[in-house]
Order: sequence, then C-alpha cells, then structure tokens
Amino acid sequence: MRSLEDLDVAGKRVLVRVDFNVPLENGEVVDDARIRAALPTIEELRGRGAMLVLVSHLGRPRGKADPALSLAPAATRLSELIGAPVTMAPGVVGEDVRRLTQSMGPGDVVVLENVRFLKGETDNDPELARSLAELADLYVNDAFGVAHRAHASTEGVARLLPSAAGRLLEREVRTLTALLEDPARPLVAIIGGSKVADKIGVLDRFIEIADTLLIGGAMCFSFLAASGHPVGDSLCAKEDIEHAKHLLAGTGTSLSADAAGNGTHAAAAARERARARVELPTDLVIATALDADAEHRVLDGVDVPSGWLGLDIGPATAARYADVISGAGTVFWNGPMGAFELEPFAYGTRIVAEAVAAAHGRTVVGGGDSGSALRHFGLEDSVDYISTGGGAALELVEGKRLPGVQARDGAGAAQSR
Ligand code: ADP
Ligand code: MG
Repeated sequence: MRSLEDLDVAGKRVLVRVDFNVPLENGEVVDDARIRAALPTIEELRGRGAMLVLVSHLGRPRGKADPALSLAPAATRLSELIGAPVTMAPGVVGEDVRRLTQSMGPGDVVVLENVRFLKGETDNDPELARSLAELADLYVNDAFGVAHRAHASTEGVARLLPSAAGRLLEREVRTLTALLEDPARPLVAIIGGSKVADKIGVLDRFIEIADTLLIGGAMCFSFLAASGHPVGDSLCAKEDIEHAKHLLAGTGTSLSADAAGNGTHAAAAARERARARVELPTDLVIATALDADAEHRVLDGVDVPSGWLGLDIGPATAARYADVISGAGTVFWNGPMGAFELEPFAYGTRIVAEAVAAAHGRTVVGGGDSGSALRHFGLEDSVDYISTGGGAALELVEGKRLPGVQARDGAGAAQSR
C-alpha cells in the first residue's frame, strides 16, 4: 500500500478523495467528525507545499445537482478548522473548475462540488474519471467510508494518476488487517445489530479466526431459531436461519442434532474450519411492539411467545458477555445488542459497551450504529479504535478486496514499472 511519503507532492496539485458526507441542518454542519478525520492528511499535504483539490460526496443527490446537498457548508467548516481560506469550486469538473485549480498556489485548498451531482460518479464513468484526473497531478484516497465502492472518484481516477492512501484510509486498513492477522488472544467478536444478511460474511470469517463469538441484537434470533427455539415476532428471516444452522453445525455449540443438520457433508466441512465458540443469549427483554411505551418484560429463557418480540439481550446474558469481554486479548464489536435507541431496550448494549470500554485487551469497533451506541453512552474515548467506515470495515473484515484500496495499488504498480 503506497503512503503519502511515497509521493513527491511539493508544488503539485493533489486531488484528495475525502469523506465529507456530514449531517447538515439549515445549511450548517451539525457534526464535523468526518471533516476532522481528514485533517491529518490535509494538514500534512499543505505542510509539504501541495495544492489541494478535495472531492467528496454528500447525501444521495442521485446524479442531479441539489443545492441542499452542496459541499459549501463543509468547505466553510474546513476553513475554520485549518484556519486558512478554502475556496468552493463552481462545480465538480469542467472549464471553470479547471481554471480555478490552475490558479492555485502551494498550501491552497479548493473543495469541488458534491461529486454525486454527476451520474458518472456511481457509474464509475471513465469520462468523469478523466475530467477529475485533469484537475491534478497526483491522487490521494482518504475516504475509507466509500472504499468498498468502485466509483469514478475512488477507483476510476486512481487508475489515471500516481496514487497513494491518505493517513485515515491507511490507518483503517492497517488496524483492521492487524486485527485479523495477528490478534492478541483470546479474540472475542461481538456481533449484533439488525442487518443480518450484510453480516453473514463477517460471521463466517470470525467463526474461523475468533476464539469466542458473542451474538446479540436481532442477529441472535436466527441462531435461536436455528437451535429450535420459537422467536415470536422477533426480526428473523428464513434465509438467515439456514445460514445460522450451518454456522452452528461447525462449532461446539450445543444444539439438537436434527436442527444442526449434523452428519451432513456441509456440517462436517463447517466443523473443520470452525474455531470459535458461539455464545447465544439465555435471557431476553421482550415487548409487544418496537416502541418505548409498549408493554415489556425480562424473559428468563429464550422461547419468545407469539405476540411478543425480542428487543434486547437479558441482564444475565449481558453480564455473561461482559465477563467474556473482560478476559479478551482483542475485542471486535459490530452491531448493538438491542434496540438501544429506546431506553427500555438499551441495557444490554450499555453493559456490553461498558465492558468493551473497560477491557484490558485491544478494542476495535466497526459499524455505524455501534459507534453511535458508544457515543450515546459517552464511552467513545475509552475504546482503542472506532472505524469510520461501516460497510467498508465489514467488507475488509470479511476478507473482500476493496476497490478504493485495490485501484490505488494498481496505479502504484503501473507507475513503478
Ligand atoms: P451497525 O451499524 O453497528 O452495523 P446495524 O445497522 O446492523 O448495526 O443495526 C443497528 C440497529 O439494529 C439499531 O438501530 C438497533 O435498534 C437495531 N436492533 C438491534 N437489536 C434489535 C432487535 N432485537 N430487534 C430490532 N432491532 C434491533
Ligand atoms: Mg447500521
């Protein structure tokens, strides 16, 4: 992976793909965390005498210019953060923009308009990639949050200019790769949340490399159903139950031979690869609806009655999970343990978040809502690392190649040939 130090940037125009996809309210940035995350790269390049052309997306304008999704507020905020003028470009690409970038001097910063105003961005249109490349001499990708997308500003343009990873992207890839390749043991993976289908690949990976897998969130109902428990009205898709059966069949987790499909060829193959012990809830918080005012109670057991749905792991499960976390050498956490946004269903996620924050081992959190949960409980400074990329972090952990990382390597190889 090529880094900033591999590029000679002094006096050069550098196109930097950043992730300034920040929340706006009344034309103002309400949370500038993503802009701050790009500062190490921006400051370093300015310090080395580069001219910066920043490109980002914001929201989902779907290929049409939408003034409400202009990057101008982000440019204003960036100017405040670096204490220097930042010029907002009159568009994404084109003659006016090119003239503006031609008139820059060392240390100057231009922010291009929202690149998703153009349809060619998500289509990875070579024409748009070429127009972007014409604005600069070098390309730096620092947008880890979109590194799993092959777009014109993340993948296409990297093929056309000498390229490198920015500091943020580099740190993300290094941290997540180290977690997978050389974790201090035991490695404990906590997987929860609601997007089960998106996390099957992550579960597959951790079954193989983790020592313990703690399952919570809506995720747990696929596993409980796979073990033969009724799940009532809990969030639980049929395909996910099938997958959970296969995963469980490969582990030492106790469940009926029938439910696990024991004895089948697939089960035997899965058992070969499995390393992790899978822990499931033994109690739950159930309610009659996903509503803070709905009737709710602790269920001592995991057979959810019909008319009820499971919305949090129970207190005994939370205590057991916290205990496992405290003994971990490395913790990876993705996905809240319950519908934590509603107070009656926040307890399990809070106990797990506190355990992660207090753990002696290295703690890495991936996933948008897991990060929000930590901030919700005021614990974000007590973990070692919170990834800025939800989907990108999961795909990297899964072992997929990220286009925004690969393309850069490709350009690097082409250049050194
Ligand atoms: P992340 O962004 O951390 O990867 P997800 O997006 O997969 O996590 O899931 C987060 C959402 O899952 C939260 O909004 C939370 O309310 C919801 N959730 C967690 N447990 C349950 C549950 N048992 N039933 C319904 N929703 C749940
Ligand atoms: Mg999410």
